[in-house]
Amino acid sequence: MIEPIIEYAPRKMINELIHIEMLNLVLFGPPGAGKGTQALFLAQTFNLVHLSTGDLLRQEIAARTDLGRMADEIIRKGELVPDSIVIAMIEEKLKKPKTTVGFIFDGFPRTVPQAKALDELLRKHNSKVSVMLCLEVDKAELIDRLLKRGLTSGRCDDAEAATIETRINVYNEKTAPIIKYYESQGKYHPIKGVGDIEEITARLKETVEKL
Ligand code: ADP
Repeated sequence: MIEPIIEYAPRKMINELIHIEMLNLVLFGPPGAGKGTQALFLAQTFNLVHLSTGDLLRQEIAARTDLGRMADEIIRKGELVPDSIVIAMIEEKLKKPKTTVGFIFDGFPRTVPQAKALDELLRKHNSKVSVMLCLEVDKAELIDRLLKRGLTSGRCDDAEAATIETRINVYNEKTAPIIKYYESQGKYHPIKGVGDIEEITARLKETVEKL
């Protein structure tokens, strides 16, 4: 069937409009803050594609790929996987869905270079980060939650107090500086990450709806 050329122009314009208006949430916070749990709710509520670099890396580990083997060693120590690897993973995922209303980034970015790379990748798609939602939980509560999760999650990085301590230190040194990056763009929104799961979801939802 020959498509009438007149249909092409409006469709292209609509696509461009959708891209400009995309809702891209960065869900941020230390390990154990509840990013994964809340990301699932937010993805459902706002119809977003959920991208978790932690989940993507664990899929590679489960599939026993070369990348997975390398990531496994790093994750076991509580350190960060190199920027180039996680950025390439996200780049690949951003290419796929053509029609989403937006993305929720969970566990990415985790360094300032990753935050800058995300801006660049979204720019290529005519889009940008809408907001950074930062779940705030104190250190004692994080350690408690992660040790409890370790009893059932089977995650090697949740099993030992020393690894958890490393992860929290890595967060403070390498990840927390991202807050300033988004704050300077007026996108940083701290959210109390303690209380009932539904209560925290409601706080996040309210912040997004006010944008
Ligand atoms: P949590 O937030 O509980 O630490 P994640 O599933 O987000 O759990 O991450 C697990 C591990 O995977 C991290 O400790 C890190 O080693 C690795 N990882 C995940 N995302 C990134 C990222 N964006 N950059 C570097 N390493 C990452």
